[in-house]
Amino acid sequence: MLAASHHYFQKASDVLDLSENLRTILLTPFRVVKVEVVTEDDKGELQHHMGYRVQHNRARGPMKGGLRYHPSMDEEHATALANLMTWKTAVVDVPFGGAKGGINCDPRKLSERELAGVTRRFVEQIHDVIGPTIDIPAPDVNTNAKVMGWIMDDYSKYHGFSPGVVTGKPLELFGSPGREEATGRGILYCLEEALNDQGKSFSDITVAIQGFGNVGSNAARLIAEQGAKIVAVADHGGGVMKTDGLDVPALIEYVKNNEERSVAGYPDADAFDGSEIVTWDADVFVPAALEEVITKENAGDVRATIVIEGANGPTTPEADEILHKNGVLVIPDILGNAGGVTVSYFEWAQNIQQFRWELDRVTEELSTVMRRAYGAVRDVAKERKVDMRTAAFVLAITRVGKAATSRYHSIRGVKF
Ligand code: NAD
Repeated sequence: MLAASHHYFQKASDVLDLSENLRTILLTPFRVVKVEVVTEDDKGELQHHMGYRVQHNRARGPMKGGLRYHPSMDEEHATALANLMTWKTAVVDVPFGGAKGGINCDPRKLSERELAGVTRRFVEQIHDVIGPTIDIPAPDVNTNAKVMGWIMDDYSKYHGFSPGVVTGKPLELFGSPGREEATGRGILYCLEEALNDQGKSFSDITVAIQGFGNVGSNAARLIAEQGAKIVAVADHGGGVMKTDGLDVPALIEYVKNNEERSVAGYPDADAFDGSEIVTWDADVFVPAALEEVITKENAGDVRATIVIEGANGPTTPEADEILHKNGVLVIPDILGNAGGVTVSYFEWAQNIQQFRWELDRVTEELSTVMRRAYGAVRDVAKERKVDMRTAAFVLAITRVGKAATSRYHSIRGVKF
């Protein structure tokens, strides 16, 4: 995945004709933290995990990015995702840099008490290098509002009451209304902009979605509310399809109430092998689960004409070329799923002002930010005659590059 994010960076840097010197400065992480997390499990045995926080770039503000608890988490993974956060915060023009991290563990094998213990020990190890003006973590895969609440509590023991140290917190701990659905809502606004450009409306389209967690289920619900048909959904347990459109609220209830937290077995639909979702016969495909699911093997068979990346890094560079050649409009992750970090910015802004916004204001400002970012990327794409991903990187690198060169005044020969 790191190779893919570097590839997209280099492609856009070629368009900008950036010097090697500046490319190196913009690609190199500011700080890489790797810590041992030793805790006691419920039986009193010692458990060992590794924790990571990669702080990629702080030219435009405090660094920002999620914490992922997963057996695949390592330094390379965190670095790739931290990179993407730098470009994502720049695309939507919120005053943050990029970071990412997490713990190499399988949270399904930990009790809630053990999970809290691992989280608190991790905070003990990294509290000196995070903070409301330094680096602000948020939820990602397998972390949620509850975990953010523990982090805020532990950090505040060292630094005083600090709700602004994390976003995605529970509402009663100064989280923001609208944060949970924000990434799905950002996907909705991007899709609406794309449909407007093509002279289509929601009632004209069918949609297939991979992943039915926070991002996938909220995107499905909001898009269906506008009149589109969600014809297929797949997750870790399998796929369900209905040509007339799935009843999304009923599917959400079904997933909430089964032990596997999966769409598999939902009675009011037909089952299919979930791996077929990428090439499903639908106008729009939203990958909202895993990395590298659209590959050179299946990209040529993608039938959607619009792909909106809810997940981070779902398309490999080879697949991206194929989709572009086939005329598929790909709305890249650093734009498509930026609704989450945008409302995280609103949450942080509310926390440092000790002031709370109503949901209407959050939704309205998210709409403004996402539509403005979509328009800016589309303008760059037209002007430079490049695809939306390259345009998003060009816009982001320009913004970060300008900020960095204004701060490090000794970088010469840079033209933006
Ligand atoms: P989540 O844990 O809530 O949901 C993940 C979903 O992926 C689940 O439905 C799960 O069943 C599904 N999944 C897991 N393995 C699968 C497989 N093999 N095949 C098909 N589906 C599978 O996570 P989330 O918060 O919805 O995040 C999903 C993606 O979106 C991740 O890439 C994440 O980094 C990205 N993202 C999330 C946010 C956010 O605000 N939550 C913001 C930006 C990007």
